[in-house]
Amino acid sequence: MAIIKTKGIIIKRVNLSEADKILTILTADRGKIRVVARGVRKPKAKLGGFLEMFRYNEYLLAEGRNLDLVAGAYTIDNLVSIGQSLRSVATAYYIAETVDKLIEETQEASKTFEIVYRSLKAISQSGDLDAIKGWFEINLLASLGFRPELNRCVECRAPLEEGWFSFELGGILDAQHRNSDLAALPVSAVELLELRAIGGNIPKQVSPKIAQIGAGFMEQIVDRNLKSKEFLAEVTSGFLE
Ligand SMILES: [Zn+2]
Repeated sequence: MAIIKTKGIIIKRVNLSEADKILTILTADRGKIRVVARGVRKPKAKLGGFLEMFRYNEYLLAEGRNLDLVAGAYTIDNLVSIGQSLRSVATAYYIAETVDKLIEETQEASKTFEIVYRSLKAISQSGDLDAIKGWFEINLLASLGFRPELNRCVECRAPLEEGWFSFELGGILDAQHRNSDLAALPVSAVELLELRAIGGNIPKQVSPKIAQIGAGFMEQIVDRNLKSKEFLAEVTSGFLE
């Protein structure tokens, strides 16, 4: 039986039978994978403690009939301090769920892994949760090809120092074109600088506008992504009928 070694963070756990679980793991080298952890729900399970949510482990996987099986694991970073508050746990779950929705199982995900690990690490080190969430959103979307335009008006390409952020158009509008999206949010010069800087390191804190833009932009892309998945599912099932 072939054994493979990989490293990754547990982003989802689902009960399979009375004793087993299916784990979704985000790895740096194999993308998002789903594996079966046998017997892990029994009270004295050998691997139980290693397979908690958000654990960063190295795994030994054995080839299974459908999904691979966890044959062994040891922890690289337990990230247990994520459990320090309800809000930090909720932020970590938001990160895990968002990644699960946006990343396909066959997709290359080394950059995504890096963004997720840095975000979870910062949560476990008591960083500002709004800043971490905003950094995660802007950087994950940028890595998936949805980098917001923050330097020029998305309509006329005029350079900008302030303007209106459009979720729909994926960037900033100037006064002349702000009516292209009536839902666009006004962004001051200071806020725009803050938005541009968030592509780098996780900031110590962010203004409410940045948090609002990160969350709104993410919602828009996740929504679009889910709709296209539904559309694909409909088209495919149509072919099968
Ligand atoms: Zn313009």
